[in-house]
Amino acid sequence: EQEDRKPASSAAAVFDAEAANGLVGELRGSFRSGRTRSYEWRVGQLKAIWRMCDEHEKDVVDALALDLSKPELESVVYELGMVKGSCKTALKELKHWVRPEKTKTGLATFPSSAEIVSEPLGVVLIISAWNYPVLLALDPVIGAIAAGNAVVLKPSEIAPATSSVLAKLVAKFLDCSSIRVVEGGVPETTALLAQKWDKIFYTGNGHVGRIVMAAAAKHLTPVVLELGGKCPVVVDSGINLQVATRRIIAGKWGSNNGQTCVSADYIITTKDYAPKLVDSLKKEIERFYGKKPLESKDISRIVNSNHFARLTKLVDEDKISDKIVYGGERDKDSLRISPTILVDVPQDSLIMNEEIFGPLLPILTVNKIEESFDLINSRPNPLAAYLFTNNKELKERFVMSVSAGGITINDITVHLAVHTLPFGGVGESGLGSYHGKFSFDAFSHKKAVLYRGFAGDATLRYPPYTKTKLRI
Ligand code: NAD
Repeated sequence: EQEDRKPASSAAAVFDAEAANGLVGELRGSFRSGRTRSYEWRVGQLKAIWRMCDEHEKDVVDALALDLSKPELESVVYELGMVKGSCKTALKELKHWVRPEKTKTGLATFPSSAEIVSEPLGVVLIISAWNYPVLLALDPVIGAIAAGNAVVLKPSEIAPATSSVLAKLVAKFLDCSSIRVVEGGVPETTALLAQKWDKIFYTGNGHVGRIVMAAAAKHLTPVVLELGGKCPVVVDSGINLQVATRRIIAGKWGSNNGQTCVSADYIITTKDYAPKLVDSLKKEIERFYGKKPLESKDISRIVNSNHFARLTKLVDEDKISDKIVYGGERDKDSLRISPTILVDVPQDSLIMNEEIFGPLLPILTVNKIEESFDLINSRPNPLAAYLFTNNKELKERFVMSVSAGGITINDITVHLAVHTLPFGGVGESGLGSYHGKFSFDAFSHKKAVLYRGFAGDATLRYPPYTKTKLRI
């Protein structure tokens, strides 16, 4: 594990708690000067992010290819495209978002008026993960800037080429008096976490999420934790199986080879329907990736040898090695694992008790599709849950009874592209949310402001507290 967590650049100067303290002090000075609060500054920085993504598309695509063999289409659409989409939304809506929101008042303060003022929090820390190393870094930065904060971004050292490109581009395009990138791994992040921040926004696994929250608690710093979990896909019968299958494949292997927080972790379907579903998956996988998917240029590789070993351990467990019905090929040297389907794995297997975060897809079977609801709810709340069905009542029951960060019916993963929906987890899958206006809100304090004049000064609350006043 430590091998892969070396600092991104060996030339980088030591970044310790003292350096972190100096950096926060510098940015706090900049924030206090009022620089980041101005509407013009926010718009200028958002436009600069857009320009940076446009002008350096090739550099970013190349870095993602080095770190993950990410196919160009996935890099351009799911990383850069999504970042530009968030810039576009923020630039279009920012005027409305920053406007104080008038709200009603009651008799108790009559006459008065009230409004909710969104104020920036101050200096915020964003720690991001390796799987979408551009999107997960820049998307929260967009929210922090839109809300008028100074920002430190710590990209993931597990995607070192992308971390390095981000550091260079942010320094070139953005206002370095208020927006900085710190590259590095555990020591650098630990140094950053020891500082007092006004918000910490963390994307990654729940183990580190706990470390982040404990560090934040020391300073009463609020956190957003964007974590993961095992996202279930329930497949009912009587559906358009080909469309369902293609969507599942696109959201699983076609999204960073399953290394996606909202990817399909496992499928639940009925015993009767499972063979049809498996056949359809096989057929469509072959259509997309050919007979030798290990050689396909359209599938990302596994990010590093640790994650490769973690994934192979999941399929090599004794009790499940005979459950593979498709795929299972792997190549240690190129860090590739082919799309792999398993049927009827035991509930107590490793693969059913850890987030898979890779190209393995177990299918659990039940007698009646309704049994899937209890099965899902008996496990920690997932970041996302999916259902394919034509049954209206089943849809309603799924939405009302399954607890998850988000739900998509008849597709997977795509709810995260809808900027009017909050994106975040519940329970073990996270705390807080972002995207669109929710990003602006995540980095704002909602300040309650009440305005009164000097007229109509009711004497009710002034002593002497007579019996008559009590009855009014
Ligand atoms: P990772 O290894 O890149 O770690 C995330 C960040 O934590 C990195 O910046 C890393 O430097 C830092 N870190 C690691 N160990 C640390 C420590 N001991 N102290 C302080 N900081 C430390 O990413 P990961 O955790 O492997 O990411 C995968 C997980 O993230 C999965 O569970 C996935 O579901 C989840 N995820 C969630 C979202 C979301 O939006 N909810 C998005 C992507 C990934």
